[in-house]
Amino acid sequence: MKYKSVAIDGPSGAGKSTLAKRLAKELGFIYVDTGAIYRTLGLFALSRGVSPSDEEQVKELLPSVSIYMDYGPDGLQHMYLGGKPELGGVDVTDRIRTPEVSDAASKVSALPMVRDFLMDMQRGMAQNYSVVMDGRDIGTVVLPHAEVKIFLTASPEERARRRCAELQERGTSIAYETVLSDIMERDSRDSGRSAAPLKQAEDAILVDTTGISLEESFQLLLQTVRENLA
Ligand code: C5P
Repeated sequence: MKYKSVAIDGPSGAGKSTLAKRLAKELGFIYVDTGAIYRTLGLFALSRGVSPSDEEQVKELLPSVSIYMDYGPDGLQHMYLGGKPELGGVDVTDRIRTPEVSDAASKVSALPMVRDFLMDMQRGMAQNYSVVMDGRDIGTVVLPHAEVKIFLTASPEERARRRCAELQERGTSIAYETVLSDIMERDSRDSGRSAAPLKQAEDAILVDTTGISLEESFQLLLQTVRENLA
């Protein structure tokens, strides 16, 4: 059987994961959040007291890391450190969502050896399932032959506004300016790095969600993918 892949790339906060998750459900595909894989490695580095941007230290760390992912009964992607849960792996799905881990993930992901190290895990998913995979270099590097490639974006200001609203809903409030500068810093790190920088693949379709609601964004995405998923 030939599996199909939808690659969704774009900057932080563009709504990739929310939209990609819903799209996968609609298509009956598996949703693969590759940022979660980098986050898990970032968390591991922090837990070992390793600076995520120190190439030598991270290199020494890689042989001892065992990242495992599976899908719970809820259909959600769970991340484990230390291997499969039945072999003692620890579920870190919630712990990888802190600002510290975001920062660590963004730093470890700039190291080419880290990207190589995590490549098989990502490609393996697309070899075994039809997937909607989101990240930064899925259409350009990980799945260059994906049936559909989407570059999902929104202006930095819009992304910061959405992030603030989301945080407020969870009972945390961070100043808009702080969130915006955080987003811009991550954007420039993701786009400016030499290893697999964030950029739109030549054959990717641009979907800009600035100024439209989540529901409208989803309908636009679904229609675009359906039209192109031969
Ligand atoms: O998507 P998310 O924000 O969870 O990703 C965390 C970090 O991992 C990003 O800031 C980005 O630097 C990195 N990443 C990456 N390549 C991917 C997915 C995520 O470099 N395919």
